[in-house]
Amino acid sequence: MKSDHRFAPEELRFLRNQIPLHHLMQAFKILIKLSEGYWRFLCPECKSMNTAINPRTNLGRCFCCKKNFNTIDITMRDRRLCFVQAVLLLREIREALIRQQIIVK
Ligand SMILES: [Zn+2]
Repeated sequence: MKSDHRFAPEELRFLRNQIPLHHLMQAFKILIKLSEGYWRFLCPECKSMNTAINPRTNLGRCFCCKKNFNTIDITMRDRRLCFVQAVLLLREIREALIRQQIIVK
């Protein structure tokens, strides 16, 4: 994935780390379930549920196809957006989550 110079690295880090991945998947209506203390999701790549979100890194991992997904990857894939469009959408989602007090600024 290529990054874009129009976004500050701190903002991209924020969008990757502070929007809970399971929240984002829920918003996109990606199938998720809580099992054995971990959020599992339908892998957008291979459609396996043999997955887990690491709450520490906010990364989704598929144990089947061995891919990792951050918030930007999921947004690009699920919404079929390019990197820049995905970041702009995540900005809006972040603002909405702050308004709903789901995340703090
Ligand atoms: Zn997979």
